Amino acid sequence: MVNFRSFRIYMTSVKTALSETGLPDIKYALNPYIGCSHGCIYCYARLYTRDKRVSENWGNVVVIKYNLPQVLEREVNSRIRGVVGVGTITDPYQPVEVYYKVTLKSLRVLLKAGFPISIQTKNPLILRDVELLVKYRELVDVGFTITTLSYEKARFIEPNAPPPRSRLEAVKRLSNMGLKTWIFYGPIIPSLNDDNETIMQIVKLAAETNSTLYYDPLHVKSFMKTQSHTLYRHVFKVTREWRASIESNILEKCSEYGVKCKPGFTGDIAL
Ligand code: SF4
Repeated sequence: MVNFRSFRIYMTSVKTALSETGLPDIKYALNPYIGCSHGCIYCYARLYTRDKRVSENWGNVVVIKYNLPQVLEREVNSRIRGVVGVGTITDPYQPVEVYYKVTLKSLRVLLKAGFPISIQTKNPLILRDVELLVKYRELVDVGFTITTLSYEKARFIEPNAPPPRSRLEAVKRLSNMGLKTWIFYGPIIPSLNDDNETIMQIVKLAAETNSTLYYDPLHVKSFMKTQSHTLYRHVFKVTREWRASIESNILEKCSEYGVKCKPGFTGDIAL
């Protein structure tokens, strides 16, 4: 174990790299890190993380799959080509990626072998890898999660994640470089980021960058229903009527701005 800033970091070796998702659009999942130092208060990923060091200290522990690129090198020779979702559980651009480059090395292996990849992140650190992504742009799409463009709100719900304006700039840059981009507006939380101004800002960004917009109203989990949880007073506002009204509001604005718009993730998350 080594210490990195205020986080604990562990190393682990893996025997397999790609896991089948069973999802229609994404054949495999690849998660270079276990845990996520962004520490979003709504994060569902802790529920899908078996490592108790991580799940019980969410946001403060990250485990690095240090041998992932080497394992991947072997696997790509025997797997049928299919889209690889990079970061289906946690953000593949953890701050420690600056040093360990597990994601970058894995992307190199996948792209060289001809696997299409779909990356989801909140971190403009992805711009470090832009040369590689542009080289293989036919195989790549990049999604940024943007829940709000308010710095204060983002600090409240995503305390250690990069500020939303930096994500916005990253989407613009990637799009300007000819990469296919998408925006994940989720979770949408009642009385927090479901206001007209937020919806408008995100729809306009999608229009400007020619990004598909995925919207995802909050999935209420039992850990949010404890009285001490920050989202406690919000979760009880998640009703069928609220969902319908949010959806129709987003669809209306997307139609107005010519943005392709889809519901976000609805199934179970692949490990
Ligand atoms: S960035 Fe994603 S995985 Fe990381 S804490 Fe936030 S919601 Fe969870």
